[in-house]
Amino acid sequence: MSEKLYEGKAKVLYATDDPQQVIQYFKDDATAFNAQKRGTIVDKGVMNCAISSKIFQELEKVGVPTHFISQKSEREMLVKRLKIVPIEVVVRNVIAGSLAKRMGRPEGESLPNTIVELYYKDDALGDPMINDDHVFTFKLATPDDLTAIRRMAVQVNNYLKSFFDRLGIRLVDFKLEFGRDVTGQLVLGDEITPDGCRLWDKATNEKMDKDRFRRDLGGVEEAYQKVYQLVTGA
Ligand code: UDP
Repeated sequence: MSEKLYEGKAKVLYATDDPQQVIQYFKDDATAFNAQKRGTIVDKGVMNCAISSKIFQELEKVGVPTHFISQKSEREMLVKRLKIVPIEVVVRNVIAGSLAKRMGRPEGESLPNTIVELYYKDDALGDPMINDDHVFTFKLATPDDLTAIRRMAVQVNNYLKSFFDRLGIRLVDFKLEFGRDVTGQLVLGDEITPDGCRLWDKATNEKMDKDRFRRDLGGVEEAYQKVYQLVTGA
């Protein structure tokens, strides 16, 4: 068994023989509210690995550099080893979640323009929201890096909005992470799955994402299964 480099809430990173590549292993574990709520979503790892692999391949085709190399098995993705930029980038098209709370507005209203938000990636602090000044003052990224990150986030949003629309899904919001590979290139990392995206059925507004788990709505596995089938054509 290869060396475990890191274990997160939903994934484990393993070393490979190549120091430039790592295995991202997708678990069934689910957490919410900064890991205060814990549970399991049966076969989430299998579905998320396939969903993320498909989406990263599509993004590469339209010119977004990602860490994706190949899908190795049901739950394993071979990816480039990255030095992660400690910023979580949230892109929003529709009011939901913490934005609804912060602005005192109901969920579901479409935004007149896309909102990009930055959070400091630090579990102990509960990922607080930050702005560009914090990024530069605390040297989380250079101005050039942040410009590139924002540009890629918007590019991902533009692609994914129509990708999901074609599948009958409304892309409400999602979270991205970026990192630098060993050559120094800034690329999209982590995963794009119903764990980190809000996806609503276009016709019924039914939630097809981790909010079903967070809010105890039931039908969690069924929702992930539906997204998995639509995205992968399985
Ligand atoms: N998100 C995430 N990880 C986080 C926080 C948010 O993947 O640590 C995703 C979440 O799934 C949603 C979007 O980012 O699609 C916006 O989340 P929000 O700020 O509304 O926070 P939440 O309501 O999930 O606490």
